Amino acid sequence: MRERHRHNQCIKNALEKAERVCAEKSLRLTPTRRKVLELIWQSHKPIKAYDLLNQLSSDEHIEKPPTVYRALDFLLKNHLIHKIASHNAYVGCEVNHDEMDSKFFICDQCAEVKEVCEPKLDRSLLEASKKQGFIPNQTTIEIHGTCAKCAR
Ligand SMILES: [Zn+2]
Ligand SMILES: [Zn+2]
Repeated sequence: MRERHRHNQCIKNALEKAERVCAEKSLRLTPTRRKVLELIWQSHKPIKAYDLLNQLSSDEHIEKPPTVYRALDFLLKNHLIHKIASHNAYVGCEVNHDEMDSKFFICDQCAEVKEVCEPKLDRSLLEASKKQGFIPNQTTIEIHGTCAKCAR
């Protein structure tokens, strides 16, 4: 599905979106938050907090874990990134969704993640929940398999 694409454009779009979201909500995209977002957008593969921490640190400066976790919390809360639970790692948000939770196609070969929003799927999930008298508070789904690129 995902062809070789101009990833610089993905990063540019993501940073522009972050600036827009922050401006709308009167929030500050501090240099650390921006840097963490940029690092997460290095690729479409989930990145662990530990790796972010390493990349933010240099010989002269060791970044402290709380700084990174605070930035991650901020980005998560504002739907700029997502946590992929099965990898315990983070990816940039690729879609516009306020209420709907995302579905993630996760390739077990190359680790790339593709995020999609499927209103139909959400409706079915809510219907199924209703039947059970169950009140879902999130309907995120992580689907593992092989991406189109790796299947070729
Ligand atoms: Zn998203
Ligand atoms: Zn793949």
